[in-house]
Amino acid sequence: MSFELLKTKIIDTNQCIGCGICAKSCKHIEMSETVNEKKKKTPLLKGKCIMTTIGLACGNCYNSCPMVRRGKKKDPENFLNTREKVLKVIEEHPKSTIPKIADLLGLSTIKVRFEALRLVELNQVEFQILPNQRDPIFLKTT
Ligand code: SF4
Ligand code: SF4
Repeated sequence: MSFELLKTKIIDTNQCIGCGICAKSCKHIEMSETVNEKKKKTPLLKGKCIMTTIGLACGNCYNSCPMVRRGKKKDPENFLNTREKVLKVIEEHPKSTIPKIADLLGLSTIKVRFEALRLVELNQVEFQILPNQRDPIFLKTT
């Protein structure tokens, strides 16, 4: 997922409410100086999205947008974003490694590692490296 998804699904379809949450979710996004016809500021890409630079499917901006979340709420199966799914698996399967979480969710290890490390930064999970183990294990922060 890239900024392009947020742009085509929300911004270009005039659903953006100018809340700025996406800009807070990523250093590559800034809100416009000027307002649009709805008198709202608009998110703009400054520099380059991770997807464009290193090909990593990120999607933080898309998943953090309240308009996206509102749409997903209608479909509970899709409501949890990737980070929430990773957190749920860590809660339900403590001491899981990245490959195990990725396997349980059917996602790539790159994507799971990105979200798990973000959860560590947010102090929602912690990791430990056990002796003679290559992969760290993840636990919900108590
Ligand atoms: S790096 Fe992630 S959060 Fe930032 S613009 Fe790209 S997809 Fe959105
Ligand atoms: S989070 Fe969504 S609604 Fe808010 S500014 Fe960004 S695109 Fe617009």
